[in-house]
Amino acid sequence: MPELKDNVKYVKGVGEARAKVLNKMGIYTLEDLITYYPRNYEDRSKITDLSQTVDGEKYAIEATAITSITNRMLGRGRSIQKVVVKDLTDTCTITWFNQPYISSKIKRGEVYRFFGKMTVKMGRKEMTSPVFDIIDKNDNTGKIIPVYPLIAEIKATTIRKIIQNGLGLVKNLEETMPDYLVEKYNFMSYDEATRQIHFPSNFDKFKQARKRLVFDELLSMQLGLLKLKGENKQEQKGIKYDKKVEMSTVIDDLPFKLTNAQLRVLEDINKDMENDKSMNRLLQGDVGSGKTIVAIISAYKAVKSGYQAVILAPTMILANQHFENAKNTLEKYDIKCECVVGGMTAKQKKLALEKIKNGEAQVIIGTHALLEENVEFNNLGLVVTDEQHRFGVKQRSAIISKGNNPDVLVMSATPIPRTLALILYGDLDISIIDELPPNRKKIETVAVSQKLEERVNNFIKKQVEEGRQAYIVCPLVEETDNEDSVNLISAKELAEKYQKDFFKNYRVECLHGKMKAKEKDEIMQKFKSGEIDILVSTTVIEVGVDVPNANIMVVENAERFGLAQLHQLRGRVGRGEFKSYCVLKYTGNSETTRERMETMCKTDNGMLVAEKDLELRGSGDFFGTAQHGLPEFKIANLFSDLEVLKEIQAVAIQIIGKDPLLEEKENEKLKKLVDKRFTYKEELTI
Ligand code: ADP
Ligand code: MG
Repeated sequence: MPELKDNVKYVKGVGEARAKVLNKMGIYTLEDLITYYPRNYEDRSKITDLSQTVDGEKYAIEATAITSITNRMLGRGRSIQKVVVKDLTDTCTITWFNQPYISSKIKRGEVYRFFGKMTVKMGRKEMTSPVFDIIDKNDNTGKIIPVYPLIAEIKATTIRKIIQNGLGLVKNLEETMPDYLVEKYNFMSYDEATRQIHFPSNFDKFKQARKRLVFDELLSMQLGLLKLKGENKQEQKGIKYDKKVEMSTVIDDLPFKLTNAQLRVLEDINKDMENDKSMNRLLQGDVGSGKTIVAIISAYKAVKSGYQAVILAPTMILANQHFENAKNTLEKYDIKCECVVGGMTAKQKKLALEKIKNGEAQVIIGTHALLEENVEFNNLGLVVTDEQHRFGVKQRSAIISKGNNPDVLVMSATPIPRTLALILYGDLDISIIDELPPNRKKIETVAVSQKLEERVNNFIKKQVEEGRQAYIVCPLVEETDNEDSVNLISAKELAEKYQKDFFKNYRVECLHGKMKAKEKDEIMQKFKSGEIDILVSTTVIEVGVDVPNANIMVVENAERFGLAQLHQLRGRVGRGEFKSYCVLKYTGNSETTRERMETMCKTDNGMLVAEKDLELRGSGDFFGTAQHGLPEFKIANLFSDLEVLKEIQAVAIQIIGKDPLLEEKENEKLKKLVDKRFTYKEELTI
């Protein structure tokens, strides 16, 4: 009997080669396969009268062939097949290419069901390359067909077949919900829901199936979070920092005035630090809102109270930047800062680790290198993680466990609407910096067609002549990318091209993710010190770098980026005294592209951008990317399912209230579900 954890390669139609492709999509087991849910559905069961069909849409029609099928050879093995069909309302030409065998399948006078895309030109209807059935068969039409997220190299029909085979292997999937919930909500069984979500018998069944699976997914997350929160509460007491150490000492010495929002969050943090509960706080603030200084001031409080503080950054570039910042701010109070990154020599690292262990280093800044086992602290009291979405829960707890119940501050520029944040970060308190420093100049954002490249480049030249620097960001070009990547150019190619022609008199360099951390850092340092004029890069520069002299951000193929991401990129400029520009170069002219570009030009508020992004892209994309550090869902959509999520949260609170660790017999199934789904999700970033 096949088991859910069996390797997917044994499913009929998969095999070694296809299994490798599926692995890339995160499908390793039979269970992964049958929980690979459709992205969409095509209703091939609803028959439309020919007279009701319009250009560009897909339809199922039932029509009689009123001519014999013709088969015209075009040379070089190519051919074209045509037949005219008719229903009670209109006629239509059906065309196939290179499928001469169809000639034997379509007979004049017979009725068929066709499904395909309709083109209407000057009143003439034509359907190209439809699938079809003779009227009393439902092989390709007459039903609701799942559409799966595209997997390169595997045809849509093949994926469908493979999933069908997978479902055929398992009998009666084990129920995941306790009886009391199944009864209360009148749920479809887990087994039926799984089958119906792939191959719904009708839309009503589909809706029931989806409701059931969304419930499973969201409830396990909520129960998991609440359970975690409960477990955290039972821990021993946190550190009580010295009330006599005043943050204002540093605040008064700063070269700028903190914004009211910064002062407010520092007050929250100060309160948390002074009481005996461990701080567990999320600090949210748009790019450029000044989160770093908040972290540094908190570190001051920790150190002067006798503890070490750690600031964890996702990249070496950022770690170095924070290190410089911390030194500049804190050394005058006799605080020793230390930086630990991957690129250090063994000797440097050994020295740094010694200082951390014996307590000589007081504020320690670094990357993942700090998570390694051989890093020991003397008296770690405060942990700050910057751009937290780059760190998973596990990494966060790895560093926390190096201290003695330290206070934790998690910083993020991810604009999540507050209602959602409260639910998702159930285990954290939240502070928001909702105000930018006053000296910020508005960044002028323009969207231009790719065709205006030369004008954009001339503009860059002019700015560079005046001593400024520019970023040019290209989308990632995947090797497996299909046809729509034809007009994409990689950062490396573009840098080479520009250095040779447009910008041959300037210093152009390239920065991309495949480079070694050390190389990246060198390039970034050179850009910072002004040795590079134009930096062509992938989105590796997206997070947090601060080069005040750079005042132009050009984004190539801006239509390929999410709005929230464009907003993050834009936040790289406008950090100094110079007027700054963000130029979005786009190709294509679709309604959505235009609307998205317009949003970027009109809105400079990260939260509004994020909301618009959700509206235009749907949260599948928005939340699907690791960018946002939200858990990935297989079926739930945090945007459109928000109401359901609220209800589920209430259910979860009730369940955990009665049975905090899910130990009761009636919650046995739920415990199993949470253990399986929630720990599995922990691997991802929450
Ligand atoms: P982010 O929140 O995106 O991490 P940073 O902490 O990098 O933002 O701050 C961006 C820039 O703004 C830095 O150069 C920082 O020194 C500066 N800055 C921070 N707070 C203020 C303020 N209140 N007034 C003026 N400049 C500030
Ligand atoms: Mg930052």
